Amino acid sequence: MPISKSRNAPFDRGDERGSDRLLQIEAVYDKVPVGLCYVNRQGFLVTVNDRFSRIFSTAENAVGRSVEDVVPDHASLLRAAISTALSDGSVSDAQIEVTGESFMVAAATVTNDLGEFAGISVAYTNITHLKDIAERLQQVELRTSYALESAGQWIWDLNIATMRVWRSPQYRALLGLDPAGHESESVAWDIVHPDDKERAIEAFEDVLSGRKARFEATYRVSRPDGGDIWILSRGKIVEYAPDGSPLRLLATSVDITAQKRVEAELSAMVQERMALEQKLLEANRKLRNQSERDHLTNLPNRRKFNHVLKRAFQRASETGEQLAVLMVDIDHFKAYNDFYGHLAGDKCLIQVGRALNKVAKQNGGSVARFGGEEFATLIPGRALQPSVEIAGAMLDAVVAMKLEHAASPQGAISVSIGMAMFDPQMGLKPQGPEELLNLADGALYQSKHRGRARLTIAGTSDS
Ligand code: GH3
Ligand code: MG
Ligand code: MG
Repeated sequence: MPISKSRNAPFDRGDERGSDRLLQIEAVYDKVPVGLCYVNRQGFLVTVNDRFSRIFSTAENAVGRSVEDVVPDHASLLRAAISTALSDGSVSDAQIEVTGESFMVAAATVTNDLGEFAGISVAYTNITHLKDIAERLQQVELRTSYALESAGQWIWDLNIATMRVWRSPQYRALLGLDPAGHESESVAWDIVHPDDKERAIEAFEDVLSGRKARFEATYRVSRPDGGDIWILSRGKIVEYAPDGSPLRLLATSVDITAQKRVEAELSAMVQERMALEQKLLEANRKLRNQSERDHLTNLPNRRKFNHVLKRAFQRASETGEQLAVLMVDIDHFKAYNDFYGHLAGDKCLIQVGRALNKVAKQNGGSVARFGGEEFATLIPGRALQPSVEIAGAMLDAVVAMKLEHAASPQGAISVSIGMAMFDPQMGLKPQGPEELLNLADGALYQSKHRGRARLTIAGTSDS
């Protein structure tokens, strides 16, 4: 405390302002709720006020006695103040205890008319209640921080202007700082894991810029003893400058490492399960595919064809659209097998299947292997004539391959086709898919009967 200087000793009785005024001042001096005394440079009390006498339980007779005599407990303090003042130094405020109460002792230098050091004016302010408040505050702080810290919450308090942060003891300990320390540190983003730093700074900038009212960030912090821990920090601006800019961010951090670990384990489990489900679905799809496919030709099998036919018939009967079924059978195939062998027969089956399927595909459909050397296909939504043309294209496609068949009268591989139609407008109304199929089969039989390598339409004898 720099010692303030006053020109005169407090009550120079030779003052020309008059004794009334002096009496008033003396009354104020006595009544002021602060203990006051004036000690000359020799350490003798020159004046004391009422409060001083009450504090130190002395009567008026304190005047004229030495400080050692009147206030022995802190006489050395006053002596020190006198010597400091003599050497023009500055004296710090001090605290003393008098009968259980606390006082702040402040001294000021007094000079005489010549400007020479005359003595010190000393004030004793009772700060007992202030100390009580401070102690109570400390208790509240202790309890609050204990409550938060035992809930795993660490507190930090950031001064935005200086960018220095105060951290609660447990947080300090975690970061390898002295838990008992009370100083604040510069904000060091270095403690944040490099992968999380940008996100944490962004969350912080959001609050500083006023884009967000609250700070929330999850990030990893490196421990001094190695290893990372996950932290969830939440905070809010608790002080603003008059221009509205934030001054102070008060926040808590909580260790969420265990939670993160569980999350990671859970997510790994979910991933694993999803992969497993995917595999299962894939396996199921393959199985279904296999059960609906013919192994030799890789075309849909009879089971699949029947399924598709059932659906197509259902739709056709609902909409009244036409639906043609074609049954295709290789001519003299037994003889082919006998002549060329079963393996050649297999190869021929594959080739015929491919040629038929190509035509079907060009018309938006596909051919199924119905069984043995028989194939089947559907032509939905077309009238008789276009369907006949598709069937004709199939006959031609097989012949065009010019697969030698020495045991056949044609000398080459050919097929016979039987076709049946569902066409309510033309009066062709088979009752169900089985009937439609039977009609096609009957027509196929007719084709064979009539010399093979041709098409027969059920209900007619045309080719
Ligand atoms: P058609 O002109 O009257 O149809 O005479 P076809 O000899 O073709 O008729 P048939 O029903 O007598 O003979 C069918 C032959 O098809 C009998 C069988 O050996 C052969 N076959 C059926 N499935 C296969 C197969 O997967 N591979 C081979 N290589 N031959 C097969
Ligand atoms: Mg056959
Ligand atoms: Mg045959």
